[in-house]
Amino acid sequence: MNKFINKTYQQYRLIKINKRASDFAVGFSEYYDAVINTKTDQKVHLPFNEKEQEIIVGEFEVLKLKTGTGPSGEIIIKEPEKELTEDIFFNFINLSDDKGKISSFDIYSFANRYGLLVNQPFNIKLFKEKYHFETLSFWRYEIALMHSLIKTYSNYQNENIEELKKIFIKDKKNFLEFVYLDNTYSKFEENNLKSNIKLNIDLHDMISPSGNFLFEEIYEQLVVRVFYQILNERLRQTSHTIVTEVEEPGKFQNRNQRWINFKTENKDLLNFIWSSFASFIQKKGKINICKNNRCNKYFSSQKFTRAKFHSNQCRAAYARDAKMWELAQIKLIKDDNLLIIDERVTGIGKLRTFDALIVNEKNDKVLAMVEFSFSDIDHKSMKWNYMKKKISKNLNDLYKINKVNHAFLINKNGKLFEWDIKKKIYGNEVKKLPETKNLNQSDLTIDKTIRQLIDFNKK
Ligand SMILES: [Zn+2]
Repeated sequence: MNKFINKTYQQYRLIKINKRASDFAVGFSEYYDAVINTKTDQKVHLPFNEKEQEIIVGEFEVLKLKTGTGPSGEIIIKEPEKELTEDIFFNFINLSDDKGKISSFDIYSFANRYGLLVNQPFNIKLFKEKYHFETLSFWRYEIALMHSLIKTYSNYQNENIEELKKIFIKDKKNFLEFVYLDNTYSKFEENNLKSNIKLNIDLHDMISPSGNFLFEEIYEQLVVRVFYQILNERLRQTSHTIVTEVEEPGKFQNRNQRWINFKTENKDLLNFIWSSFASFIQKKGKINICKNNRCNKYFSSQKFTRAKFHSNQCRAAYARDAKMWELAQIKLIKDDNLLIIDERVTGIGKLRTFDALIVNEKNDKVLAMVEFSFSDIDHKSMKWNYMKKKISKNLNDLYKINKVNHAFLINKNGKLFEWDIKKKIYGNEVKKLPETKNLNQSDLTIDKTIRQLIDFNKK
């Protein structure tokens, strides 16, 4: 397995900069130009909103690394470094969640652990002999691009033609052109990404037996072309071949003792990540998606091609979740007209305040919110007051917006607790759910497409 040693920094910081901001105590605004002039591609790597530009700063102080003094008084230092293996590209890809959101903090944690993408302390002059910068929009674009490609690769591998059709769009005017267009990442305002991922694909040299360039006929050629174009560009920009002098050991001779050699090296971490990724694709590595739907990370398993979970924690979480759902079905759904839905599939899940919702199947209206507890929480627990406050607050918020009046908490033993805003009930233990006719209907409606999806999955 290929390895790469990244030279790292002693400290990292995540900060916001902007052109005129003089109010930064640390004074980083003066480095605005320096950041803008780093070797990124201005077309794709600049942020959507410059005022919201975030950067990650690597701080390096050579004097702090002094481990001793050499015989002629020179300073001996030990450079901090991190050895990385090829599978690092999965960590990089998974900095995006499955919806395309890329959190600043996750990038910061990654840098803290593995170092910066294109900077290393001694390879470029340090600003003020101490700092290197990388913009988060640069990080995000590279993450988004690789995430988009692995998604496409996964859809290709699983023959999800319908999913591929959403990304490969036929040009309406030009019969012989497709566009690879993925706006999954730029649509999140907080990602602050300027551009969609977009690539034009020319069909002239592609093979279509029917002559009509039907998607089903040419999709493999399209996928390969996208890889060809993007990977070539990524690796060309950063390939690095160095020439060294090599010496045969032994007694000095004026011929055949010394000659040249050359090798291709990964210039920086980003280059190593892209070349590891390219090598995975080239070898047709099997890609899996973690089945724990709180995770959905991409991974590959050397041992099992059909591995379902990316970690043992995810395997355990999934089993625990499945048990909880079964319990919730038994305790909460006695009426045929009720349906319990995982909040994350509804899109309301953006709030992430409750785990599930109970819906009236007849009109798709939400009747109640449900919270799962994987502990044996009840009125006697230390955490009860905290839980009670949390649920009361979250339900109150939903009541104000959508008139959602009921919430239930179910613990791992199947104990049930009720909230009812109108009746001023806040966490009373109950034996079972009230009759459906006694539940107040909210004006929150579950999207038709989500209902179809759930019905489809039931079959
Ligand atoms: Zn997982």
